[in-house]
Amino acid sequence: MPTTASETESPPAPAASADLAYASALLADAMGQGGSPLNVPASLAGQLWPYLTAQLDEDGDRRYRGVRSAPDLHAEFAALEQARPTDPSAPQLALARWPGAAPFALFLSHDIDQIYDRELFRVVADVNHIRRMLLSGERGSVPLASRRVLRALFRPKRTLWDFETILALEARHGFRSTFFVLHDRYWARQGARFSYDDREIREIGRLALAAGCELGVHGGYYRFNDAALYRQSREAMAEAFGVEAVGIRNHLLRYSFPDTWRAQEAAGFEYDATYGHRSVPGPRSGLAFPFFTYDPQRQEASNLLELPLTVMDTSVFRYLRLGGEEALEFCARLTERLAGHGALITLLWHNNFFNEPEYWDWHMVYERLLERLAALKPWCATGAEINRWWRARARVGVEAKPAENGRWEVRVRPAAPIKDLVIEIADGARWGTVTVTGAAHELQRRPERWRVLLPELAADTAVQLTLTPP
Ligand SMILES: [Zn+2]
Repeated sequence: MPTTASETESPPAPAASADLAYASALLADAMGQGGSPLNVPASLAGQLWPYLTAQLDEDGDRRYRGVRSAPDLHAEFAALEQARPTDPSAPQLALARWPGAAPFALFLSHDIDQIYDRELFRVVADVNHIRRMLLSGERGSVPLASRRVLRALFRPKRTLWDFETILALEARHGFRSTFFVLHDRYWARQGARFSYDDREIREIGRLALAAGCELGVHGGYYRFNDAALYRQSREAMAEAFGVEAVGIRNHLLRYSFPDTWRAQEAAGFEYDATYGHRSVPGPRSGLAFPFFTYDPQRQEASNLLELPLTVMDTSVFRYLRLGGEEALEFCARLTERLAGHGALITLLWHNNFFNEPEYWDWHMVYERLLERLAALKPWCATGAEINRWWRARARVGVEAKPAENGRWEVRVRPAAPIKDLVIEIADGARWGTVTVTGAAHELQRRPERWRVLLPELAADTAVQLTLTPP
């Protein structure tokens, strides 16, 4: 992709710091206006998300070019969470952000744009890649790219191999991922390089589902923002794979506010995973956790959940032109910092760069990054599972009332079934005993806090906690 010198060499764009300052102010505002301390992200929908999502739409990439990582509001957010105004005598309760109070969530995903080694468009793209390396100094290896062209012509790679590799890498850590399968025309420049009718893609789908992975729709370039065509894709997926798709991510991360989300919601999707910059890694919204998208016409949060993107392979290797250990360190630093904030970390690695000698480091970085993140014990789940969790958690009612002798009674009532819900009582030293009735539970006491783990709650279960001072 051609870029001018002034775009690539500009210092960190002033837009980024201005956005950061303005968004921080809005964040403070949203928190100060009685946002629920138990689910603050949802209460931000009215102010912060509309600002960020409206400002950073299709030209977001250009405004941020030259910045190596998108703005990050987690530090501001944490400070505001700490400083929230509460009744000083009330217990400091919070619902853990993730199941079992896991330190962060990990969403592994793959966009399937192409699956065949011997395929006209792919060979043409490789020949063009070689031409650009020779004529305009594009990064890559001419001998390795030439070998790939010869391999495609004479001994094509087995189609399922890359998928078996991905599943094996993830299974090592007990991880499962989501595959977004492109559904669009074949004979078109930005189209899909296969059809849902092909035997091979159906085999890939079966393989992924058998491994406990999820299939979602990769929204086609020629279907952009068209609810009727997105719905066709959902129906085609049901027909080809027997799957009611819950999630979608658009090809090339194409997104415009508010039409993309409106069309996706109208087509029956529950979550979108498109929201990220192609050229800039890091959370596009500034906050790396799920949020309900905003509809400016209705002036309220809509029912489509966004699982924002954190790092895509091409952003790091193509746009930032990093490689080898340097690329690994960049990805590890970015994701480990967000893990420290309890974030949702979404990785997007394309299937067609695995097992490729020319792209050895794309494969290596994914493998090593999973090892490093696994050591931090995340909750790794498919997009559909994260979607279900976030919605159920948002519908847990918590009500605290003072009782006699300094005791407090806390009622917890989920509106939807939920597993591994954890209630944290931050001011742990204030309570000598905590008793729980109404559901199977596990109590943990750490020096500074209590934790109540509720392994399985049916909808409308009434759980009662009694907090008694020493
Ligand atoms: Zn794609």
